[in-house]
Amino acid sequence: MATSVLVIGTGAAGLQAAIELAERGVQVLCVGKRRHDDAHTVLASGGINAALGTMDPEDSWEQHAADTLSEGYWLSDPTSVEILAREAPRAINDLVRWGARLAHEDDGRLTQRFFGAHRYRRTCFAGDYTGREIQRVLVERALAVGVEMRDDVYVTRLLVHGGRVFGAYGFGVNDGSRWLIVADAVVLAAGGHTRIWRRSSSRRDENTGDAMRLAVLAGCRLRDMELVQFHPTGMVYPEESAGTLVTEAVRGEGGILRNGLGERFMERYDPERLELSTRDRVALANYSEIAEGRGTEHGGVLLDISHLDRDLILERLPRMYRQFLDLAMLDISTTPMEVAPTAHYSMGGVRVDGETHVTDVAGLFAVGECAAGVHGANRLGGNSLAECLVFGRIVGAEAGRASAELDVQVRDRAAIDEAREEVDAMLSRRGDEFARPLQRALRDLMSEHCGVVRSEEGLRGGLHLLEELRERTSALEVRPDIAGHADLTHAFDLHGSLLAGRATLECALERRETRGAHNRGDFPEQDPALRVSLVWKPNGEIVHAPIAPPSAAVAALAGGPDVEVGRLLE
Ligand SMILES: Cc1cc2nc3c(=O)[nH]c(=O)nc-3n(C[C@H](O)[C@H](O)[C@H](O)COP(=O)(O)OP(=O)(O)OC[C@H]3O[C@@H](n4cnc5c(N)ncnc54)[C@H](O)[C@@H]3O)c2cc1C
Repeated sequence: MATSVLVIGTGAAGLQAAIELAERGVQVLCVGKRRHDDAHTVLASGGINAALGTMDPEDSWEQHAADTLSEGYWLSDPTSVEILAREAPRAINDLVRWGARLAHEDDGRLTQRFFGAHRYRRTCFAGDYTGREIQRVLVERALAVGVEMRDDVYVTRLLVHGGRVFGAYGFGVNDGSRWLIVADAVVLAAGGHTRIWRRSSSRRDENTGDAMRLAVLAGCRLRDMELVQFHPTGMVYPEESAGTLVTEAVRGEGGILRNGLGERFMERYDPERLELSTRDRVALANYSEIAEGRGTEHGGVLLDISHLDRDLILERLPRMYRQFLDLAMLDISTTPMEVAPTAHYSMGGVRVDGETHVTDVAGLFAVGECAAGVHGANRLGGNSLAECLVFGRIVGAEAGRASAELDVQVRDRAAIDEAREEVDAMLSRRGDEFARPLQRALRDLMSEHCGVVRSEEGLRGGLHLLEELRERTSALEVRPDIAGHADLTHAFDLHGSLLAGRATLECALERRETRGAHNRGDFPEQDPALRVSLVWKPNGEIVHAPIAPPSAAVAALAGGPDVEVGRLLE
């Protein structure tokens, strides 16, 4: 196929980019490896941020930017953060214009709720189905403006010649048919890598690190891969549901955390903000309570909302109510939930320009969870959906411009052959290894060696084991059958996960300090010299890149990077 712009990913970021392109009259093809109405984005529950000031008129975009920078421990790209905060209200207006059913007050104002570590109420929501509602509206809008969508294309390679992208290669997930898509520009919006941990808030087979592998093989660098957010509250049991997210909105609505002894332990970790503290702090608090033997029977802590009115719970947290009833036969309006940290969000990812989100490869853009730079060392809840929409629009405009300005394009036969031969080789190899068990081994490895708290010894051991796993892939056998090509997708997922895992372990080793979501038991202090982003290349080289200062207005509100941030390890 040929198109002006190819968008890889049909989640919020990819769809928003595609909508912008179509609205500008640019031909666009948007592909995903699973149904577009069921992209990972539908899992987002709690809300989306914008300084609209509907509930707290004193809020401003500068304050939103200041909260994002300071709670990201000053590792975010200030340019990106300021764009995010300034443009988020427009994104909400677009959603409303396109028919999103966001919660509102009787007088018509949009309701905004508190999310952890925001100074003001600035999180818009649709019950606890915000992501599903946004995805619904974006799909509708994309179809209305003529975006062509395919849900069955697994992209295995980006095609590059002379440092410029010219398309992508892949296969049909149902029938194994081969896909060669040539394009003037490509938008990568293929999600993060948090499924490579055993307990993860992602579903099976999503967030497997595909975007990172595609970008790196194309010639991009990665940034801050060690910065992975562990959400403090994932389900603990039953085992098959472990990791499934318990939204932060539960704490936003007044949920209380207690340990197995009945103590409200957040009083010891953040006495001012308690349960509304930042994710990294609450995650570390939960982890510490469990690790130090004050956990519950199933190895979690208790999150209690039973003091709230049942009708309010059903109105504000319908998905949580249903989730616990369906998965654990538990009524959260009467009984506390058992929760523990779960791998939740990739703050690191493909290195992009802070303004345009162009990558190291000409014509290739990265956006959404696969791109790095906005969230620093700790993402604020509700900022990811905002990022997908704000930068989705910007990237759509930039990719459209790149297509319009393209003079000549070389479609390198050798690059296409290489991509095709990679799939051929995968299908013809015979051996005694299979993707699923290797994926499982990788998840165990990452959980044990690169979880909430890390150490030099653990990380080095993890890298050693990861290399053993990588060697075993030379005997990986792939056998598609009449039911489809799932085996081939698992094999490519595994390769993505191994690359993303290695980058994460190597960057986690390099960051010898504790900052935000990255806790080094052997380096428990923040090191001012490490207020840099770590830029990773596949040869293992890691460059410490300086971070520019924010604008004076935002810095004045945020206090600046030298303000002491409390340490949590006790
Ligand atoms: C349980 C949960 C709750 C959350 N709640 C919130 C919240 O309340 N507020 C908030 O702001 N954020 C929240 N988040 C985070 C937010 O949902 C995600 O960061 C965001 O949806 C990511 O969107 P995306 O478009 O970047 O990628 P995704 O939605 O992950 O989409 C990735 C797309 O890429 C496609 N793809 C991947 N690999 C390939 C390949 N090899 N070939 C072809 N296609 C491919 C997939 O099929 C998919 O279409 C939550 C996350 C989780 C897990």
